[in-house]
Amino acid sequence: MVDCLFCKIRDGQIPAKVVYRDDRCLAFEDIHPQAPTHLLFIPLDHIETVNHITAAEAERIGHLFVAAAKVARERGQAESGYRLVANCNRDAGQLVFHIHLHMLAGRRMTWPPG
Ligand code: 5GP
Ligand code: ZN
Repeated sequence: MVDCLFCKIRDGQIPAKVVYRDDRCLAFEDIHPQAPTHLLFIPLDHIETVNHITAAEAERIGHLFVAAAKVARERGQAESGYRLVANCNRDAGQLVFHIHLHMLAGRRMTWPPG
């Protein structure tokens, strides 16, 4: 058993503002939003980092993008746009070691990212 914040959110042991759920993923609001919309899409299965994704899990990870695009469409943000980010390990600033796709929207983003 891993002691994982996002597994606890998945299991309802820690509260979160859930905005989307299906048989493969869960999406909830980030506690420290960096844009008017800042959601986190997680696979229901615990996978630590992008480095740990196996070929067998590829469809489930791809599904995070499908879910994010669906939520963006539902929120009317698909056309104006949004940013999807997955941080991996120290240099990217990964803090929670259960893969998640950040979805940021509602403001103009800059590039390069910090
Ligand atoms: P990372 O840096 O690992 O890519 O992103 C982790 C994200 O999880 C951060 O944006 C952070 O604000 C968010 N976060 C950390 N703790 C919690 C929490 O307890 N609840 C929610 N909803 N988000 C959290
Ligand atoms: Zn986990």
